[in-house]
This record gives sequence, C-alpha cells and structure tokens, in this order.
Amino acid sequence: MNILHYVTQKQEISPKLKKLKASCDAAVAEGAKDDEGGGGAKSPPGLYDKDELQKRLSPAQFRITQKLGTEKPFSGKYVHQKDEGQYNCVVCGTALFTSDVKFESGSGWPAFYDVISKDRVVLKEESLGGLQRMEVKCSECRAHLGHVFDDGPKPTGFRFCVNSCSLDFKKHTTV
Ligand SMILES: [Zn+2]
Repeated sequence: MNILHYVTQKQEISPKLKKLKASCDAAVAEGAKDDEGGGGAKSPPGLYDKDELQKRLSPAQFRITQKLGTEKPFSGKYVHQKDEGQYNCVVCGTALFTSDVKFESGSGWPAFYDVISKDRVVLKEESLGGLQRMEVKCSECRAHLGHVFDDGPKPTGFRFCVNSCSLDFKKHTTV
C-alpha cells in the first residue's frame, strides 16, 4: 500500500475551508445568543470534568476526544456503518452528522460531506510540522472530532473526517 504521498504531500488550509470556519464561528455565536431547538438546555463549553470523563469514556474515546488523538485507519466501528441514523458527540450527545451525508472516502475513517448544522462544530487551524489542517471540535463540549478537508463530494465539496471514537451512533427508529 502506498501511503507515502499522504505524508509527504504539503497541505495548506484553503480559502474555502477558512470560509467554512468563519460561517461555523458565526453560527455558534448566533446560537449562543439565541438558542432554540438545540435539543435541550445549553451548557457552557468545557463543563465536563476530566476525571468524570475518564471514568465514563473508554480509554480510546478519552484519548481521542480530550487529547487530540486519532484512531488507526479502518479500526473504527463506524467506518463502514451504513445504517440510517444520527451521529452524536460521544461526550455530550450533541447531534453532529446524519447517515444521509456519510460517504465512503476510502481513507479509513467515517466521512461526512456536511454537518447537521454549522453551529454544532467549531473549526480550528492546526499546524503540525509542514502539515496544516483544519481541526473539527464539538461546539458544545469542545471534544476533538477529527478534521475537515475540501476534497469531498458534491454538493458541499467538504470531507469531515471523523474518528468513530468521537461519535455515538443512534439508529433511526421508524415512527
Ligand atoms: Zn460534544
């Protein structure tokens, strides 16, 4: 398997991703001002006690969501998940993605081309060595979710590359 080009390719954050970050920031700010239909009471970000989280989450979930970890490609339980449903933040339960926008990216992580609502995530520019990426965090609890790239499919062209460990899948139940 040739993975060499993934590590040597220089990645920079495109204007398109910066624009996405700006619209997420604006949506989060708007949501904080006037929260309606957000699925319950809104709590300030970062309210979770790390000790409590360490007990509640699995070691992998804790490492990934709290310490910017990344699960091994193709190791996550939702990589090939095709069931219809909703992907929530594993830490706080915020609804983040739906199965409708999930696609096979071939990268080894669950991939989505859109988020349920832009106020659900905050993006953060990250620079590691020569590698620049846009980190994706839960807007509610600031859990690390993964990264977003601009090589996704239509209609958005985005690829939210998210760790399975950061997500909690809830299957749709028929009414
Ligand atoms: Zn969260």
